[in-house]
Amino acid sequence: MDLKNFFSKIKSDILEKETKNKGSKVIENQSHWIKCPSCESMMFFKEVENLNHVCPKCNYHMRIGANKRIALIADEGTFVVHDEELHPTDPLEFVDRKSYKKRLEEALHKTGKTSSIVSGSCTIHGAPVELVVFDFSFMGGSLGSVEGEKIVRACNRALEKNHGVIIVSASGGARMQESTFSLMQMAKTSAALKRVDNAGLPFISILTDPTFGGVSASFAFLGDILMAEPGALIGFAGARVIKQTIGKDLPTGFQRSEFLLEHGSIDMITPRNDMKKTLGDLLTLFAKQTA
Ligand SMILES: [Zn+2]
Repeated sequence: MDLKNFFSKIKSDILEKETKNKGSKVIENQSHWIKCPSCESMMFFKEVENLNHVCPKCNYHMRIGANKRIALIADEGTFVVHDEELHPTDPLEFVDRKSYKKRLEEALHKTGKTSSIVSGSCTIHGAPVELVVFDFSFMGGSLGSVEGEKIVRACNRALEKNHGVIIVSASGGARMQESTFSLMQMAKTSAALKRVDNAGLPFISILTDPTFGGVSASFAFLGDILMAEPGALIGFAGARVIKQTIGKDLPTGFQRSEFLLEHGSIDMITPRNDMKKTLGDLLTLFAKQTA
């Protein structure tokens, strides 16, 4: 069975299982406790879910998946998903501790997705936009050929329809299992966003916890507006690697959104629950300027 047929089969198996388990899942969530990773308060899952996974005690912004993020910022019922048919291939037949094929199978079982990106068209407070959202739970939100292609296609749609692009990043960087094919996506996505820029269309880049490596070194830092969630870890290499390289202790809060804002690397920090309104305002402002 080739990879594409294999993914289609697993996907339908997962859908079937989810439909069967739907009732029990809801009950499980209602009685489920979770601990805030920052202040360690114990809370009901439902309570935290209702607050969009922001801790009511310390304002810690927990990681959320792509579907939740889309529901949070797109106008209800407007999101039309694109390019779902794109599946990763394994041209290098790469094997580290496990084969890449095995890792893709496991990621699909875990997330029900074949890529670390969900992309589509929607409106935000009535303003049309192409929305691309990373899902960290799929292979650490890594950037492979499919993810790069989805970003380029989103840019092409924005150019056709004459509106902006929003990318919400949550990624450890390039996907090492695709080696050079993955690294090439940095240039490919940057070139597509340059075409969006040349057309005078806005690109808003939202950096969430964590945004690293080849993602922060390419499209994620090319936005007309660089917006981050509070407390998000954002950088290129990890703090431990930097500390070892320069042989010095790093300042408190290094690589957090607040540190980056203070040092002029990003434009704004927007709490998750204000994000939709802020994006709506920005898109309206850009639309007026380009009209
Ligand atoms: Zn907390």
